[in-house]
Amino acid sequence: MTDYIIIGSGLAGISFAETALSNGKSIIVFDNNSQNSSKIAGGLYNPVILKRFSKLQHAQEQLDMLQEFYVNLQKKIESQLNFKMPVLRKFFSIEEQNNWFAASDKIGLSEFLSTTLLTKKYNGIDSPYGYGEVLQTGYVDTGLLLNRYKDYLSVNGNYRNEAFDYDTITFKEDYVLYQDIEARHILFAEGFGLHANPFFKYLPLDGTKGELFIIKAPGLDLDVIVNTNVFILPLGNDLFKVGATYNWEDKTDLITDEGRAELIEKIDEILDCEYEIVEQLAGVRPTVKDRRPLLGTHTDYPNLHILNGLGTRGVMLGHIWQKFYSTILNLEFHWIGR
Ligand SMILES: Cc1cc2nc3c(=O)[nH]c(=O)nc-3n(C[C@H](O)[C@H](O)[C@H](O)COP(=O)(O)OP(=O)(O)OC[C@H]3O[C@@H](n4cnc5c(N)ncnc54)[C@H](O)[C@@H]3O)c2cc1C
Repeated sequence: MTDYIIIGSGLAGISFAETALSNGKSIIVFDNNSQNSSKIAGGLYNPVILKRFSKLQHAQEQLDMLQEFYVNLQKKIESQLNFKMPVLRKFFSIEEQNNWFAASDKIGLSEFLSTTLLTKKYNGIDSPYGYGEVLQTGYVDTGLLLNRYKDYLSVNGNYRNEAFDYDTITFKEDYVLYQDIEARHILFAEGFGLHANPFFKYLPLDGTKGELFIIKAPGLDLDVIVNTNVFILPLGNDLFKVGATYNWEDKTDLITDEGRAELIEKIDEILDCEYEIVEQLAGVRPTVKDRRPLLGTHTDYPNLHILNGLGTRGVMLGHIWQKFYSTILNLEFHWIGR
């Protein structure tokens, strides 16, 4: 008897899989590569919403859980996934500097916003007003994580590269039968793919499309992440990830001319060096309007569970559920959490 069939090996599915395994549960993961969100994400973690200068709820707990999660996972799959790296906010005016320093004095924000004005010159960026530094930031190489985790599961025979067919689940007294698998539970973590799930598609998952670039800019000398209307993240070998756009109408993961034009416009506000667009990528973030994740157990089918709605911040939010709702592994609750 397998404990969990997990549908989806994005950030949500991996986070659940790891927690299940570390609690001694057995798993089989299905993924059909139908969603791109975790595959292409910037992977940044940043405890502050810079636009509004507000701290994320439970920011320190989220960061602590993230760090612990990746220390353990990196050992297991023998790859560096978590790169601690400063996020610098480029200032465009004295007023922006002043707003920053007013915010950095606020209770709750002072541990995340440095009070030092950074005036360092980076080749390729003209920033006469300097930068403010967000503390405890970095990025997770989500593309690498997905690949390495898939390999890890495959070696152990726990990964199936195929679409999950919702119509062929057979419900038994206290377990489910799917193909050749008898499982106690099914955990759905399909990201925006939730809309094809007949059991949970009624939940208010919205979806926000994002596009980003990989650019090559030999004249840009950056060992930090710069954030304005877009982020610029150094990948090495003169390559940088730049993003992202937000589109609430288009729910496809196709790259668009509109996304391209928007990114170019935003990059040109920051860079004053030549760059070449190497690749354009697109995906749909599994967002919920009120930004609260979707977690819980189906009211009519006690073996079916969901972990979704990680929105724009899957890297930090992907783990927080473990603390507040880790009982899902023992199934001591029955609700659709929001
Ligand atoms: C452009 C962009 C930039 C982003 N940048 C950041 C960032 O910097 N920091 C951050 O924290 N977050 C970022 N995000 C958001 C983050 O990527 C998401 O929060 C996260 O990826 C959601 O993970 P998930 O596992 O819920 O969904 P997904 O990553 O979409 O994973 C769902 C998985 O389920 C699989 N699946 C779906 N249906 C089925 C089925 N029927 N059978 C089998 N498999 C199925 C899909 O193939 C997919 O692999 C970004 C997103 C985008 C699009």
